[in-house]
Amino acid sequence: MTMEKTDQPGRCDSCCRVSSVLYKVSLGHDFFDRAYNRLSAVDDQAPRWYCEECSREKDFQRDVRSIREEFLRLRSGSDSLLSDPSNFLRARQRIREIDQQIKKGRSPHVILSPRDVAILLMDLDSWADDHGIAG
Ligand SMILES: [Zn+2]
Repeated sequence: MTMEKTDQPGRCDSCCRVSSVLYKVSLGHDFFDRAYNRLSAVDDQAPRWYCEECSREKDFQRDVRSIREEFLRLRSGSDSLLSDPSNFLRARQRIREIDQQIKKGRSPHVILSPRDVAILLMDLDSWADDHGIAG
């Protein structure tokens, strides 16, 4: 993720708190190193600015989305990047980290739901158990 920073105090577009430093988040590449295309040209013309905590959550959200999408494909029997066990373990590790980070973070979370992350982590764990993926 690349972040453009402004020193102009302003309001975070996500949590609406006034912050002395705001970041414009460009999501760049996703967890699997694919170009992340959710930031369309239209969005870029009206950029959103985030406080530090929200920009971090935004980064987590991008990875959670990519990993969840691939996991749903794996579970439904489609081609998935997670069918490679080393990718699977790396992805689960990332979700674990995010789970830890947002648990000890602020509340309420405005961008990413800690419950969604916890559920994804449980699903990944039980998939690993059922399919003998050790790590
Ligand atoms: Zn914020």
